[in-house]
Amino acid sequence: MDAGVLPNFSKLAKQGTFHPLATSNPPQSPVAWSSFATGMPPGEHGIYDFLRRDADTYSPDFSISKTIPPENILNIFGLSIPLDEGQIINRRQGVPFWSDVESEGGRSTVIRVPVTYPPDPIHRMMAGMGVPDLLGTQGTYTLYTTRPLAAAGTSSSRVVRMRPNRSGRIETSLEGPTDPLNEEHQALSTPLILEPAASGGAKIQLGDETIELAVGEWSPWIRVEFDVLGPISVSGIVRLNLVAAYPRPQLYVSPINIDPEAPVVPISSPADYAADLAGRIGLFHTIGMPEETWSLNENHISDKTWLEMLKTNLDEREAMFFDAMEKNDSEVLVGVFVQTDRVSHMFYRGIDPEHPLYPETDELARGAIEWIYTEADRILGKVMAEMDPNDRLIVLSDHGFAPFRWSVNLNRWLVDNGYLVLNAGKTQSDIAFSNVDWSKSTAYALGLNGLYINRKGREAQGIVEEPEANVIKARLMKELPRWAFSPPQATQAATLTTEGESEDEAGGEAEQKIAPPVGQSVIRQVFDGDVIYAGNANGDAPDLVVGYEPSFRASWQTTLGAVPKDLIEPNAKKWSGDHCITPEAVPGILFTSFKPEQPISQIAQVAAYARNHWKQSQAETP
Ligand SMILES: [Zn+2]
Repeated sequence: MDAGVLPNFSKLAKQGTFHPLATSNPPQSPVAWSSFATGMPPGEHGIYDFLRRDADTYSPDFSISKTIPPENILNIFGLSIPLDEGQIINRRQGVPFWSDVESEGGRSTVIRVPVTYPPDPIHRMMAGMGVPDLLGTQGTYTLYTTRPLAAAGTSSSRVVRMRPNRSGRIETSLEGPTDPLNEEHQALSTPLILEPAASGGAKIQLGDETIELAVGEWSPWIRVEFDVLGPISVSGIVRLNLVAAYPRPQLYVSPINIDPEAPVVPISSPADYAADLAGRIGLFHTIGMPEETWSLNENHISDKTWLEMLKTNLDEREAMFFDAMEKNDSEVLVGVFVQTDRVSHMFYRGIDPEHPLYPETDELARGAIEWIYTEADRILGKVMAEMDPNDRLIVLSDHGFAPFRWSVNLNRWLVDNGYLVLNAGKTQSDIAFSNVDWSKSTAYALGLNGLYINRKGREAQGIVEEPEANVIKARLMKELPRWAFSPPQATQAATLTTEGESEDEAGGEAEQKIAPPVGQSVIRQVFDGDVIYAGNANGDAPDLVVGYEPSFRASWQTTLGAVPKDLIEPNAKKWSGDHCITPEAVPGILFTSFKPEQPISQIAQVAAYARNHWKQSQAETP
């Protein structure tokens, strides 16, 4: 704003208010947006992290929605096609303000707010974060390659080796959901054929469609049908990108999104809204987190290709939002544009000279965050131009951002300090604590900020009794904030090489730029779950919540319950900015087009404002 590149935000700030907005603890999107919707703290709405832990198995589990397999169900893939109502539940408790407005005579349109799956039964809703892909996952893409490629370090991707014949023709298939009628749980699949095209690109046949793609080009949406039995088939949509040309082609296939024109599970309210909307604006991403951040993090697609995909997401969201604005038949309209968040996650390396990848960033990467904010400003300008004089506009973010330079293996710290004990002879553990001896362990970390005591009677193999649990909690709350950064020798060497690329000059610069901040505190504060989560809705609340200092964050392995070798590793991944740290370091922002009667300083206060304003405006209407 100070640089003058966000004129509409500046105008809005002048017209109403603009100030920081305190976020939830932890400052994670599903947690904060649930507070936004319900006005409740996490202890009451029950969403504490992206991941919860299953106390019976110590395994990570998605915390937002849950599928209950009932008797009367066609159990296709992890998803299940519900033949009855209510097989998929939103784990969030409480009533969102848009539903309250409806119970008091208003109408609400809510577009892609996180943690709205399955959709609330309101005037109009498109479900957001929580909607799975056709495999039942949160987004699994497929990379077809003729080159030897290591399997990706994430379950979010599938790498498939392709073998061309002499003319370059490749016959393979795209695997869909598991065949419910096959006893060996084979996947349903649809043929995929590649051939070299005269233009230099590739001719690709998938489902009923044949298209030609140039290198780097995104295809339009392609519908893929997986035949289950006779007339029963499930429909998905994908986009393709030819990542590399013949003679050694590579093809990227996006996660298989649920087809909005024939959704196998409800993704909108009313159920036909998704199809109607697709009729007006074309096919669109339906998966809850459609930005495919993992494909960029694994270097399976380029910065440019990813940003083009992101722009498609933004265009779809914009079209949905203005479709609803044009309808102009709701008293409350809520839309979440997550693209500023995703670009900041993936391109913080372009504005953080101390990030390990900064020396390798080019102009595109360095300008990406400013670009997405100017896009946000453009959309804001359009909204302001279309508002009625009596409309009230609130623009907010659920959290801010910080650099993510160092990955913290918190479970390694717990092992090194005697809280978590590995099986005899083991020095590391895979995810889900595969090598942990629970009969000797008192605490473990899982999710982005959660720490749990191995409590007797709660955890399957719990050993800690009640009075001792409080002693352990108090010790961790004291010891963790005293942890000062001291990288082992091996870690320092690792900072010099990122993915085996161009170490020479860039590496030298990187070495200089990312000198480890020896002695710096890793964790600012550890919060007591009993204090900050009074109520413990869902019973999922962590015993402790870890507030990392900016530039540190839980490693991906920590989130899934693994114990790697090192305490702290340089983050050489493109996912280079984050906000899952101490909340006071990453507040969101709030703009209003009016002067609020009561200050709105915390994200959970927005719901109360909306409810009160609706009541008041009703009372004032003669
Ligand atoms: Zn985020």
